[in-house]
Amino acid sequence: MTSDLRAFAADDPRFIYAACRDGGPGLVHLPDGEAETYGSLTRTTLMCPVPGCPAPSITTVGGDRRHHFRHLRNDAATDHGPETWHHIESKEVLAECARTRYPNAVVTFEKVLAAGARIADVFVTLPDGTRFAIEVQISPLPVERFRERHSWYRHAGIVDVWLFVHAGVHLRAG
Ligand SMILES: [Zn+2]
Repeated sequence: MTSDLRAFAADDPRFIYAACRDGGPGLVHLPDGEAETYGSLTRTTLMCPVPGCPAPSITTVGGDRRHHFRHLRNDAATDHGPETWHHIESKEVLAECARTRYPNAVVTFEKVLAAGARIADVFVTLPDGTRFAIEVQISPLPVERFRERHSWYRHAGIVDVWLFVHAGVHLRAG
C-alpha cells in the first residue's frame, strides 16, 4: 500500500500540457507517441502554461521516452520544477471536472479577487450566483494563513474548497 502510494505520487515533471496562445480555456494534452503529429500545431498555436514564463515558445520532443513538450529556450528560467507542473495540472483537472459537472457555470483559472489582493486557483460561478473557489495547496501553508484565507472567503460569501496535495518531499507515506 505504501509502495503504491509512493509510486502514484512519484514526481513526473514531464511537460505534457500546453496552453493556447489565443488564451482559450483549458490546456492541450500531448498524447504519448504524437510528438510529430502535434509539432506544427504546437509551434504555431501553443505555449508554456506557466504564468509569467519568460520564454513561452515551445515545441514537441519524440523518441523512446514519453513524448512531451519542451521550451525552445531551455535554461534555468524555463525550468519550472515539478511543483509548478503539479499545481498547473491539478488546477486543469479540477477545472475540467467543474466544466463537466456544471456545464452552465463560468469556470475561471487564477481568478483575481479583492482588487488583486487574492487569486483563486480555480473559480466557479453557477448560474444561480453561487460562487466556489478551489485552492490547490502544494507548498506548506501555515495554519494562520489558512485561517485568514478561509475566513476572507467566508465573509465574501464564497465557498472555499481546499485540496492539500502531497508529493515529493512533502509526502509522508508511512
Ligand atoms: Zn515556461
